[in-house]
Amino acid sequence: MDSHTHLLMLDVSPEEAVREAAEAGVGAVVNVGTGVEDSREGARLASRMPNVYSAVGIHPHNAGEHSTAALEALAGLAAEPGVVALGEVGLDYYRARWPREAQRALFEEVVSLANDLRMPLVIHSRRAFDDTMDVLKGARGPVVLHCFEGGEREIREASERGYYLGLAGNVTYRGSETARFVHLIDPERLLVETDAPYLSPQPVRGRPNVPKNVVHTARFVAQRLGVGGEELATRTARNARDVFRLPLEL
Ligand SMILES: [Zn+2]
Repeated sequence: MDSHTHLLMLDVSPEEAVREAAEAGVGAVVNVGTGVEDSREGARLASRMPNVYSAVGIHPHNAGEHSTAALEALAGLAAEPGVVALGEVGLDYYRARWPREAQRALFEEVVSLANDLRMPLVIHSRRAFDDTMDVLKGARGPVVLHCFEGGEREIREASERGYYLGLAGNVTYRGSETARFVHLIDPERLLVETDAPYLSPQPVRGRPNVPKNVVHTARFVAQRLGVGGEELATRTARNARDVFRLPLEL
């Protein structure tokens, strides 16, 4: 299971990426929207491709899209078949393409939409952990911190709230804080993802990422935890199924 991927941003077609992933044993993917347009496309993919699900959202890099019409569009898309979450949304103080207040205003609105629609949230947070956690105090449903990059303190705080933590290829890079403390993550809240086309894991780092590469991240995490690769793959797939309520037998 690749619990966070961007099928519309790959060099290969969504069909090819999903087929290759299935051949590598990755049976389902959650495609994630970053703006109204690609969320709409993603919803369409989820409705016509088996084992493809979608989250619809506005990435903090696109906070300028924030408008009443955009939020209404997301609410409409959220009702489409195969749409399983709102996201990605959140705060990015690293690239900070929009002022913090603008990012936060959008983020708060989507959190409240998720509450109204009773949907899980997929969160992007970069160099903004404390403010992200502050906004998320308002979230009543399940939360996924995607591409989680925190260390011991962040893992503990997120775990206290029962949040799911999505580990992407960067956990396999030398010096990853998260890799050192991966054993502190509740096994029932652990997810693996590619965030393709970004963040290719070792040993395919440097090449454009694709959903099948989630197997490398899963293998790395399994080794860190001292569990079998198969066991880790099954556990993380079940966790994704549970948080996104996917109709999958696992
Ligand atoms: Zn992403």
